[in-house]
Amino acid sequence: MPASIAIIALNVPLPEAFDYLAASLDDSDIGCRVLVPFGSKQRVGVLIGLRDSSRLPDGQLRPVIEKLDDSPILDRSTIELLLFASRYYQQPPGQFIFAALPNLLRLARKPGQPRRQRSSPDSAGSPPVILNEEQLAVTNRIVALAGQFHPILLHGVTGSGKTEIYLQLIDRVLAAGGQVLMLVPEIRLTPQLHNRLAGRFADQRIAILHSDISPARRMHDWLAAGRGDIPIVLGTRLAVFTPMPRLQLIIVDEEHDASFQQQDGLRYSARDLAVVRASRTPCPVVLGSATPSLESWFNAGQGKYLLLSLTRRAADNARLPDISLIDMRGLPTGQGISPPLREALRQNLQRGEQSLLFINRRGFAPALYCQDCNWVAGCSRCSSKLVLHRQRQELRCHHCGLSRPVPQSCPECRHDQLFPAGAGTQRIEQLLEQLFPQARLLRIDSDTAASPKQWQAMREAILARQADILIGTQLVSKGHDFPHLTLVGVLAADDALYSSDFRADERLFAQLLQVSGRAGRADRPGQVLIQTAWPQHPLFQSLCRHDYPGYAASMLDQRKVGGFPPFRHLVALRADAPTLEEALGFLQQARALAPAAADIDLFDPVAETLVRKGNRERALLIAQAASRPLLQAWLGDWLDRVAGLQPGKVRWRTDVDAQQV
Ligand code: ADP
Ligand code: ZN
Ligand code: ZN
Repeated sequence: MPASIAIIALNVPLPEAFDYLAASLDDSDIGCRVLVPFGSKQRVGVLIGLRDSSRLPDGQLRPVIEKLDDSPILDRSTIELLLFASRYYQQPPGQFIFAALPNLLRLARKPGQPRRQRSSPDSAGSPPVILNEEQLAVTNRIVALAGQFHPILLHGVTGSGKTEIYLQLIDRVLAAGGQVLMLVPEIRLTPQLHNRLAGRFADQRIAILHSDISPARRMHDWLAAGRGDIPIVLGTRLAVFTPMPRLQLIIVDEEHDASFQQQDGLRYSARDLAVVRASRTPCPVVLGSATPSLESWFNAGQGKYLLLSLTRRAADNARLPDISLIDMRGLPTGQGISPPLREALRQNLQRGEQSLLFINRRGFAPALYCQDCNWVAGCSRCSSKLVLHRQRQELRCHHCGLSRPVPQSCPECRHDQLFPAGAGTQRIEQLLEQLFPQARLLRIDSDTAASPKQWQAMREAILARQADILIGTQLVSKGHDFPHLTLVGVLAADDALYSSDFRADERLFAQLLQVSGRAGRADRPGQVLIQTAWPQHPLFQSLCRHDYPGYAASMLDQRKVGGFPPFRHLVALRADAPTLEEALGFLQQARALAPAAADIDLFDPVAETLVRKGNRERALLIAQAASRPLLQAWLGDWLDRVAGLQPGKVRWRTDVDAQQV
C-alpha cells in the first residue's frame, strides 16, 4: 500500500514540517515542489518525505493541491543535509529548505526551459603553472584521498599558491567526470576566482551562485548543477546546499573568515556544513587559509583534519613582506598618519608604486563631541556613538542606520563648536589630499564599494594602476590579489585589543596578517608598517615574524585555561526586548528550566556588549560543554521547555556555535 501522508516543508518559522494527504505523490516525487492549502491561502512547499500515518486526526488533513515540478529539484542527500542543519542549528526546517532554493523557485511558478547558456568570459585558457615541490607534495596527498571523506586544512602563507593547487585538484576531478564545489566568504572574491577558473577551464561551464547573480540565471545554473550538467560551482554561504549529484571535492577558501557564519536570520556556519556535507558524500574537503580559524587549527592538532602546509610564496623571487611596528608612544600622531609612515608613503609614491592604508572604520570620525561639557553624539536607538560623515554632512549610526544632520552647536551647553574625535577612512582621505595633492586616491569602504559592481570597477582601477594610495577597511584585507601594491600602513589597530570578545585577538591577528599579505605579491618586496601604542604585545611580535603557528599555540593555551572554544562548545540564547530587564528576565526564566546536567556549564544571563540596538535591549545566556553530542541532546530538551514560556515582548533565538559573544 502506498504511503498516504506527505511531509511538506513550508517557509514558515515553525519547528516542524507539515502533514498533508499525499494524493498521487510517491517516493520518486521527494524533492519536488508542491502547492498546498495553508490557512485560507495557498503556499509552495517541498515534499521531503512520505509516511503511512499522521499524528493529526484524519479530518484535519488536507490534500496536496498540485505538484509543481516534473522531477525533483532537491535530491535526497541535499534534503538530508538541510534537515541536519535545521536540527543542529535549531532553526525551522522549512526555512532552511527554502533558503537553499534560488528565489524564483520559492514561487509557485514552473521553472520552464533553461535558456541557452551564455558562454564563459573569452579566454584562451591559461596553461597550468609548474608546481613547486611543496605544492606538488600537497596536491599529491590530496589526490590520494579521492573518493573518501577527509577534511584537509591547507595552511599556506599568502601568495603560496593555494589557488594554483585548487585548480590542479579541480582539473583531476573534472577528468574523472566529477563536480567541484568551491566556497568563498564574500561575493567580492568571486570575480578574481572566476577569472582564474575560466582561464584554466575555458571549455567548462561554471556556475556562480550568490545573491548578486540575476534570479533567472541563478535558478537555471542551480538546476543545471543539480542535474550534474555544470561541473564547477563557485559561490558564497548558501551555495553549500547546491544539489550536485557527482560531487567529488569541496573547497572552502579563506576558511577562517567569519562571513561563512550567517549572523542574521538563519544561523549556520557554511564552513562547518561543508565538512558535514563532505562526510556524507563522501569526498575530501579542503579548507584553505593563511590564518586558519583556531577551531580548524585545533582539529588539525587533534588529528581530525589533515594539516598540509605551504611555507613560501610561490611566484619567482616573491617573498613575504617585512612587517614592522611604529611605536606611537611619544610620537606626534600626525592626525592619524605618523611621520615615519608619511615618509614611507612619500618614497613609495616617488617610486611610482601602490600603497594601502588600512583602517577599519568608515566615515570621517567615529565620534563628535563637545570639549566644554563632554557631550558625545549618541544614537537614540542604540548604545553607540554616531559616526560623522562629512561629505553628506550627517551623523550616522553604523548599527541601525539612523542618520541625522550634524548639529551646529552642543545640544547640552550650547557651545558653538563640536569636535570630531579620531579618524575614519574619509578623514584619512582628506589628510592624504593635503599631504600628497598629486597622488591619486581611492577610498574603499562599504560607502564607496557597496555593490559588487562598484567593487569590480575599483578592482580594475587598482589592477590598471590608476590609483596610488588606497584607503580601505576590512573589505580590502581579504584574499585579494593586487600585484602592484608594495606598501601597507595599518592605522588604529589597537582598538581590537581592548575588546571583551574572546575571539577579538584571533580576528585581529588574521586581519592584519591577511592585509599584510596584500603587499609585494609580484617580484617586488612588500613593506608593512603597523602603528601601535602597544608594540610589545605578543600579537604584534608574532605578526612581525609571520608566526601564525606560534601565536595560534598561545591563543589555544589561553582558550584552554579560560574554558572557551574550541576546547568547549558553545551555544547562546539571545533575547531582546524593549528593556534590558525584560530580556534578562526572560533568560533567567529560561535558565531555571534548564535540565540539570553535570557536564554543562550554564552561565548567568548578561547584557550584550552593544546593549541597545534599534530600540531593543539585548542580552545573552551562554551554555558550554566539552562534548558536542552531549550539548546537542541537552539543548534539545532545554529548548522544548523554553518553547513553553510566554515571551511577551521578548524575542529570542538560539545561536549554536555563536561567533560573537
Ligand atoms: P594563494 O592562493 O596562496 O594566495 P596563488 O595561487 O594566488 O596563491 O599564487 C600566488 C601567485 O603565485 C600567483 O600570481 C600565481 O600565479 C603564482 N604562482 C603560484 N604557483 C606558482 C608556481 N608553482 N610557480 C610560479 N608562480 C606560481
Ligand atoms: Zn557641550
Ligand atoms: Zn543606532
